[in-house]
Amino acid sequence: SVDFTSSFKDPALCRGLLDRLHRELDRPLRFMEVCGTHTVAIFQSGIRPLLPEGVRHLSGPGCPVCVTHESEVAAYLQLAERGDVIIATFGDLMRVPGPGGRNLKLAQAQGARIEVVYSSFDALKLAADNPGEKVVFLGIGFETTAPTVAGTVQMARAQGLDNFMVLSFHKLVPPALRALLVDPECAVDAFLLPGHVSTVLGIEPYRFVATEFGTPGVIAGFDPVDILQALLIMVEQRKTGEYGIVNAYRRAVDDAGNPRARQVMDDVFMQSDALWRGIGLLPGSGLVFRPEYARFDAMQRLGLTLPEARDTPGCKCGDVLKGKMQPNECPLFGKACVPAKPVGPCMVSTEGSCAAYYKYNVEA
Ligand code: SF4
Repeated sequence: SVDFTSSFKDPALCRGLLDRLHRELDRPLRFMEVCGTHTVAIFQSGIRPLLPEGVRHLSGPGCPVCVTHESEVAAYLQLAERGDVIIATFGDLMRVPGPGGRNLKLAQAQGARIEVVYSSFDALKLAADNPGEKVVFLGIGFETTAPTVAGTVQMARAQGLDNFMVLSFHKLVPPALRALLVDPECAVDAFLLPGHVSTVLGIEPYRFVATEFGTPGVIAGFDPVDILQALLIMVEQRKTGEYGIVNAYRRAVDDAGNPRARQVMDDVFMQSDALWRGIGLLPGSGLVFRPEYARFDAMQRLGLTLPEARDTPGCKCGDVLKGKMQPNECPLFGKACVPAKPVGPCMVSTEGSCAAYYKYNVEA
């Protein structure tokens, strides 16, 4: 019988694909992944140093914690420090530095009520268990996470749990790709498109990458065979000049995506402009509550606004997220900025590219 999972890690298959890549590459290829799991997978698999010299790997804005804007970090820190709500958050956000180096961990140590949860459903349970308290879930993440959060909001409404709210800082991937493509400094030759996000989106929302910008895009899984196959497709498209979006992760991604998940997301949220760290304000790149669900919107119900905030001095996360700088080119990398004492979010999150460079010993 075929071992379905290990075949995508098969060393002989990888060797063959690598050999082909070395043979076929006829010009430099700067490919960008926009998914924190790809960032880590590329390092973890060990394929990075084996790629042909002309292949340059860039990590884009694919780590949800990393792209959360400085103002958004400042807003949820202010909320945590107010003390009149319980904050429920994914653990990754706890150590993200905000203004003055403050973070949620520090706020918690100083008495703020902050609970680390593993899903938005845990946050809903927290609200159900604490009927006299307001529970605010920090909603960050892309199209993969947003449908689950939307489903949680639908459940809150069905259960009449009005003490549950979400601070929605969700982001959408395709508008970020467009922003990178129109920025002449970004110079990306091809995109390794995110496997998880694509399970929801399918192929269609990425079409413009190829049709408008003549840039290959390949939806890929996270095993080395997946990634090498995707690189070969990019090389072949650039050779032939026939650009398109290829779904090379058919074992998980349907070309049509997941219409039910999109329907749940669209029922609760609508697109709005959003701030991205390092990129700025992108039209239609975020999700805010539809009026019918306004009572679950922490922003509206608690009268919050986004404060002015700047990136931590010296931190180059913005340039790293746009692929303009490799993490190890940041002067603070591995010196003032290490995972135990991160200066920027790209060193905090396990999916951040600075953390990956550090963990896998890419030297400063
Ligand atoms: Fe920011 Fe640290 Fe990365 Fe430099 S190494 S860009 S300071 S997170």
